[in-house]
Amino acid sequence: MSAPAIPFLPYGKQWIDEADEAAVLAALRSDYLTTGPAAAAFEEAFAARVEAKYAVCCSSGTAALHLAALALDLSPGEAIVVPALTFLATANCARFVGAEVIFADVDPRTGLMEPHHVEAALAREAHRGWKPRAIFPVHLNGHCAEVEALSAWARARDLAVVEDACHALGGRYGTEPMTPVGDCRHSAMTVFSFHPVKAIATGEGGMVTTNDPALRHRLARLRNHGMTRDAESFQHRESAFDDDGSANPWYYEMPEAGFNYRLSDIHCALGLSQLGKLDRFADRRRALASRYDRLLAPLAPMIRPVPRPPKSDGGWHLYVVQVDFPALGLTRAQVMHRLKQKGIGTQVHYLPVNRQPYYRQRYGALSLPGADAYYAQALSLPLYPSLSDDDVERVAAALVQLVERTS
Ligand SMILES: *Cc1c(COP(=O)(O)O)cnc(C)c1O
Repeated sequence: MSAPAIPFLPYGKQWIDEADEAAVLAALRSDYLTTGPAAAAFEEAFAARVEAKYAVCCSSGTAALHLAALALDLSPGEAIVVPALTFLATANCARFVGAEVIFADVDPRTGLMEPHHVEAALAREAHRGWKPRAIFPVHLNGHCAEVEALSAWARARDLAVVEDACHALGGRYGTEPMTPVGDCRHSAMTVFSFHPVKAIATGEGGMVTTNDPALRHRLARLRNHGMTRDAESFQHRESAFDDDGSANPWYYEMPEAGFNYRLSDIHCALGLSQLGKLDRFADRRRALASRYDRLLAPLAPMIRPVPRPPKSDGGWHLYVVQVDFPALGLTRAQVMHRLKQKGIGTQVHYLPVNRQPYYRQRYGALSLPGADAYYAQALSLPLYPSLSDDDVERVAAALVQLVERTS
């Protein structure tokens, strides 16, 4: 008799239920597959949920970052400061608009960028003569960077703040009462992703939140080819208006070149349905993280969960442990292989972006000891709402076995 196959646990995955299926089917049967009522409904509900004035949806988190860079009017010769420990897109959005990336180091324990890291990064690159315009703190793993301090620091130097909250939807920040990530209390814009491993899934999808009506207007226009039908803003008035002074019904203008970064009504219907489950998802992720904490506590100092910053009640995108691989007597690849043989998927978030060949060629080798130390020890364990308590026990037991074989 063969043992029943153990289900493979990926490091992250979506939760789709019948309500989501029904929502997508309804969108498919509606009059609009794109640019219909679902996008507006999703934006409105999202803004309300994160307590921002406005939300602008778009086709991915990467598109959201690109739109944010465009809305800041970032240009060649200017630069943004980005933590080295993040996904590629946080940095790439500067290059999309011809601006430069100044990689900042991060705290070796949390992986988060702090004001002193920004200051050191700006000093390091000062000789290049780029004009710094903005900082893009990242809420790595769902734990909030200290945006209040970063924002005060940035404001004093006339730098904008854009939060990359692709990991942190559903999280809260601050001292009691904490407020939702995305409310833009300390930033011009906050960016989210709805990739399947993120807090809610639309397949591909993204959102920018802001409290500034001018930014909202600009983001929405750039998302749709740079087009406007707002009669007030028309520049070629003789083409725009009929003899009686009314706007011509076919007429639109393009004051700047934009993109097609729209999110379809099919995606938005799914997003709206998923958003209704966000609190449940976030609670489940928190409960699973606490269970991991409890089960893994005896494995310190060989294996330690990444510590939580004090003002953050995280969105818990990832459950990351820091592993002393040399003490364990195994390389990270060996650990990943052994866990995989037991049906446990793991991943590494992230290789410092400055080490990518593209950036290495552009800016040379950088010494960022905090990012390097964090990266050397990081391992992401399975974490997603449909993970069971037993699954967590199984992952913890596999790690206990790895540690015990050394003693
Ligand atoms: C996922 C992610 C992005 C990009 O989002 P996509 O929707 O995949 O384009 C950007 N930044 C961070 C930190 C992310 O995790």
